[in-house]
Amino acid sequence: MKQKGLMWAPTSVWEGEVEVKLIISVASGKGGTGKTTIACNLALAVGYCQFLDYDVEAPNSSFFLKPQIKNIQKVSIKHPYFLTDTGADFRKCAEFCHYNAVAVVGKEVIFFPELCHGCGGCLLVGPPGAVREKEVAVGVIKKGAAKPNIDYYMGDLNPGSMRTVSVQAALDSYISDQGLVIMDCPPGTSCSMVFAVKDCDYCILVTEPTPYGLNDLVLSIDVLKDLKKPFGVIINRDGIGDEEVEKYCNEKSIKILEKIPDDTEIARHYSRGETIIDYDPAYTSKFVNILKEIEKEIMT
Ligand code: SF4
Repeated sequence: MKQKGLMWAPTSVWEGEVEVKLIISVASGKGGTGKTTIACNLALAVGYCQFLDYDVEAPNSSFFLKPQIKNIQKVSIKHPYFLTDTGADFRKCAEFCHYNAVAVVGKEVIFFPELCHGCGGCLLVGPPGAVREKEVAVGVIKKGAAKPNIDYYMGDLNPGSMRTVSVQAALDSYISDQGLVIMDCPPGTSCSMVFAVKDCDYCILVTEPTPYGLNDLVLSIDVLKDLKKPFGVIINRDGIGDEEVEKYCNEKSIKILEKIPDDTEIARHYSRGETIIDYDPAYTSKFVNILKEIEKEIMT
């Protein structure tokens, strides 16, 4: 049986093949607002989805989803190396490299691997045969499954590597072409956040009701507006801070999808790697309702 619009339904009522793909990204301007908590609770509430952890510099969704990892795949990029003993002139490589990863001082070539994006440009412009490439590992993709029926993927950047987007790009190749896809995005508004949300149908911005939360929320809203992505806001730890986030959203007609109260018991469960749903199963329907709301907004 094919169903339209029920890709988010809990496993117990999900009966057939889905026709629709829906990518929901969960992001936050400010770190530490509970973005991963919300993403994991959404996945667990639905029960049947694909979950991708795009927060590759600090992936921690596995603490809450507890997936069984079945496969780990290396992610690597290509770095150039320069055959200086050929006596070739590598100045064109240095001139070409927009990332200043190559410098030529006299006859010496200095390569800065942390700046290299592996674009291959210096091979094209450099002296023929004198610039070669080698594979450099930058991270891994961990693939597995979490209960009840979550297809799980996590990008994990190698310590010290700056090739965040390369690992995210590797994750892109696993995005399912049907059903519900939930992405846990990096915090902030840098390249890695933009890369993670670029393909989503809707972005949930998780914030906290504090001046810092509001400041960074406004920045991430600006990014999403530039990208023309629909979005809504979840206010986490409602009750701390002030009313300014809510006032801002109301003034700008920004949808507040849910407010999660500041609750010591939620924090206690979090510290044990447990979810909001573990603490109070009544939240399951709240999270499913968030997805229903989003679906309604997208479909109309
Ligand atoms: S591969 Fe690209 S980024 Fe790396 S050194 Fe060459 S030109 Fe620069």
